[in-house]
Amino acid sequence: MLNIENYIGGELVRPASGEYLDNFDPSTGEVYSLIADSDDRDVHLAVEAATAAFPAWSSTSAEARHDILMRLVALIERDLETLALAESVDQGKPVSLARAVDIPRAVANFKFYATAAMHTANESHDSIGQNAINYTLRQPVGVVGCISPWNLPLYLFTWKIAPAIAAGCTVVAKPSEVTPMTAYLLSRLCIEAGLPAGVLNIVHGLGPKVGSAIVAHKDVKAISFTGGTKTGEEIARVAAPMFKKLSLELGGKNPNIIFADCNYEEMLATTVRSSFSNQGEICLCGSRIFVERPLYDRFKSDFVAQVSALKIGDPLDPDTDVGAIASQQHFDKIMSYIDLAKAEGGTILTGGHKSEPPASAGGREHSASDADSQGSAEPPARAGGSDLNGWFIEPTVIEGLPHDCRTNQEEIFGPVVTIMPFDTENEVLTYANSVRYGLSATVWTENLSRAHRMAAKLESGIVWINCWLLRDLRTPFGGVKDSGVGREGGFEALRFFTEEKNVCVKL
Ligand code: NAD
Repeated sequence: MLNIENYIGGELVRPASGEYLDNFDPSTGEVYSLIADSDDRDVHLAVEAATAAFPAWSSTSAEARHDILMRLVALIERDLETLALAESVDQGKPVSLARAVDIPRAVANFKFYATAAMHTANESHDSIGQNAINYTLRQPVGVVGCISPWNLPLYLFTWKIAPAIAAGCTVVAKPSEVTPMTAYLLSRLCIEAGLPAGVLNIVHGLGPKVGSAIVAHKDVKAISFTGGTKTGEEIARVAAPMFKKLSLELGGKNPNIIFADCNYEEMLATTVRSSFSNQGEICLCGSRIFVERPLYDRFKSDFVAQVSALKIGDPLDPDTDVGAIASQQHFDKIMSYIDLAKAEGGTILTGGHKSEPPASAGGREHSASDADSQGSAEPPARAGGSDLNGWFIEPTVIEGLPHDCRTNQEEIFGPVVTIMPFDTENEVLTYANSVRYGLSATVWTENLSRAHRMAAKLESGIVWINCWLLRDLRTPFGGVKDSGVGREGGFEALRFFTEEKNVCVKL
């Protein structure tokens, strides 16, 4: 069975403990590879390697950094299909999504920041009257920690790593222990691309062991974290007294607000997607759907019909709409929220159950023989003919719940949405803003003035008008309230990974 090893100082290495954790295929519920069970000793080695690499990397020209990152881009593009299959098996997501979104986005992340670093400039201030000139340097902060979740594994991992490396920092990174495979494959591509040793170090293992050791390490100057709000709180508690720079992208409970004057067909198709893409496991999915009363019954009937027709299936089947839930633990959490919704008086309009095992589309045979090799070898995949007895949940639509019940206030992060009618703008704003979170919101209306009023008053970092998940990497990305602190994206991320230094010269 393949061992997912750490990538430290430019090499694939065993964890200090010599121990490995099970890595599950969520479609079958079976172990299909093993993950390095690392601890603070491995983190220490990774920080040492990153510290040693920092002087040379931070003084490498932006153009040279660009060239190396673009070599990595070419290799990810070459291996796009392998990486998409690996992501689908490891995470449970439909392979069509991994092919169209996850892996292309990893490519885009590296491309975007490789080139952005060549377009950054320092400011200067001509202090007329004082006979002086001030100039402001932006210098890479040093060794940084990047910690990412399991829902969009390579997509979010590279969203942090790419700007950090492009800015001249060296990195100790930790992917989620639930979905480590594509980060491991990336480490092999980094070796092939000739990324200098120690610039990127990847330490695998459990959050409370590896993640917390990265956060607590005195030589790690900044932490870029994406994950749950509770984990974010813990990270802030440790890192804030050490005066580390912190970027926290946390949970959400996003409203999807539908006015009766919307473009109905476009709204309906997009709302199915924004509710159930990636089994609802995208931090930007809308999970509370508010519908203006005149449209409510029509929407309810069409939405339920379309959701019931979604194909739950083998993630490796290109026709699958809804794949497997990433882990047993997360499956149990989602099912407990469906029980809670019923206990709170909700009516299940469709779904609500563990799904019957779908038919297997067949798999690729295991090819773990080259487990320790470096380069573009195939990762292990599910063996053809395996039973899909893993963690599948029917897409679920619930009505009849008030906006302030627990089902409508707490993050479920699965294929579960509620629908609720409303009468006025002010009423729906109160409902939408009633949660502790504030990541994203969607508004459907053809009335531009209303759209603008809503966007101004919604408590969230991102508002989509008549669309969803339309991303331009130049725009700031992040949440307000308990959805996080700081912004990623565009030049914001390069600013995060650099520190300003003002130099005043008396002429
Ligand atoms: P999580 O917080 O459990 O884990 C995220 C990462 O943190 C993992 O790598 C984990 O190993 C690590 N970790 C766990 N405990 C740690 C600790 N004490 N110190 C340091 N690191 C630790 O989150 P998850 O379950 O992997 O992901 C789901 C959550 O992520 C949801 O709440 C979702 O909304 C959120 N999310 C947010 C965004 C965003 O951009 N705001 C994007 C995707 C996911």
